[in-house]
Amino acid sequence: MLATTHSLTSAIIVTKIPSPYLSLPLVLIFHYLLDLIPHWDTGSGMTQGLKTKRKAFIETLIDLAVAVTLVFFFFQKGQAFSPLLWGAIILGILPDLLEFPALFFNFRPFPLNYLEKFHNEIMHRRGKLPWGLINQLIIIALISLLY
Ligand SMILES: [Zn+2]
Repeated sequence: MLATTHSLTSAIIVTKIPSPYLSLPLVLIFHYLLDLIPHWDTGSGMTQGLKTKRKAFIETLIDLAVAVTLVFFFFQKGQAFSPLLWGAIILGILPDLLEFPALFFNFRPFPLNYLEKFHNEIMHRRGKLPWGLINQLIIIALISLLY
């Protein structure tokens, strides 16, 4: 799923649930639960050779920039810097970040190889455009209702 969707979900979880002992594990659990929804993301098509690594990398940078911008404007702007918020954002996209060496450099050391298997083969459902993106926009709209 897009970093934007994961980041906004993570932000709403740590905003609504004050205890980090509860909210941070939920952030990670929600990453995998959201990935179960068939979706399109910036890595879609790359492993099948339908998209170049360069294109996937550029799309990922754009996705991350959108994620940081939206989180900043909706959750951080006008308030004291929140390490919990930004820590939760990183945690919320961590399973995807950990796949970076495998996807871009074909580098799969232990235990990242097992995490990649769990993430991709068990928890990750691919969806095609446009519905694989529209369902994420619906999730973001629902999150904004909770905000
Ligand atoms: Zn993921």
